[in-house]
Amino acid sequence: MKGKIYLVATPIGNLEDITLRALKILKEVDLIAAEDTRHTLGLLNHFEISKPLISYYKQNEKTKSNIIIDRVLEGQNVAIVSDAGTPAISDPGEEIVKQAIENNIQIIPIPGACAFVNALIASGFSTKEFLFVGFLSALKKEKKEKLEELKYEKRTIILYEAPHKLLGTLEAIKEILGDRDIVLARELTKIHEEFVRGKVSSIIEQTEGIKGEFVILIEGGEESIKEKQTSDLNQTTLEEHYNYYAMQGLDKKEIIKKIAKDRNINKNEIYQYFLKK
Ligand code: SAM
Repeated sequence: MKGKIYLVATPIGNLEDITLRALKILKEVDLIAAEDTRHTLGLLNHFEISKPLISYYKQNEKTKSNIIIDRVLEGQNVAIVSDAGTPAISDPGEEIVKQAIENNIQIIPIPGACAFVNALIASGFSTKEFLFVGFLSALKKEKKEKLEELKYEKRTIILYEAPHKLLGTLEAIKEILGDRDIVLARELTKIHEEFVRGKVSSIIEQTEGIKGEFVILIEGGEESIKEKQTSDLNQTTLEEHYNYYAMQGLDKKEIIKKIAKDRNINKNEIYQYFLKK
């Protein structure tokens, strides 16, 4: 009979955040696949759990997934853990889940700590809708392109960032998204946990020499890209507005309907305008 794969969340700082169920599963499985076996060994030792470990990290995710899947097909139960938090959230895990699905293997998530969820719920920003982006590219050009993409995002934006790149990322946010309200959720669940709130510029001033792990939350913009385009179009002449939609291949009737909607005026007025032309 096939075994099962458990995706086990581990603490992001405070060891008391491990769940009873996570401990039970870690004690019961045949094998634990860990992002960093030495790191996980520390966690297992703390809870007096002794289990065979196999390394499973981003760079060897594909090949190691094959090996783990073979073990599960032979009947072993395997737990996947990352260094901290929930596996597959900016951490290895995605690949094995895909392969498990292809092999009809049961995947069981074991909930627990996740940095961005805790950062979000205490941020004070909208939790109704949000966009988790994770790490931005380390490459300057790609980082800028991604931020450009987020410029008109109305939902709360959530980023992960490495401590030594924090300042550079905050500068880029200020340059591209403007001096928005942001929250830095620092050292979650640890002794120095804090939420630094304010405009990007004021937070940049406070981050000199700041240490620890961070989640960056950015308040959603007021205007979506569609609204921005509409308001830009509304600044043009009716002819320019007409040509914009004509270039998209729309017919006269559709164009007039769209202009009327954009400008919030009766479409007959627009018909009359173009009749007189
Ligand atoms: N899988 C993890 C999770 O569930 O949140 C995320 C792992 S990702 C490799 C590491 C990033 O998560 C850090 O660079 C930081 O942005 C964020 N992070 C992890 N632990 C944190 C903590 N205790 N406080 C604040 N941010 C944390």
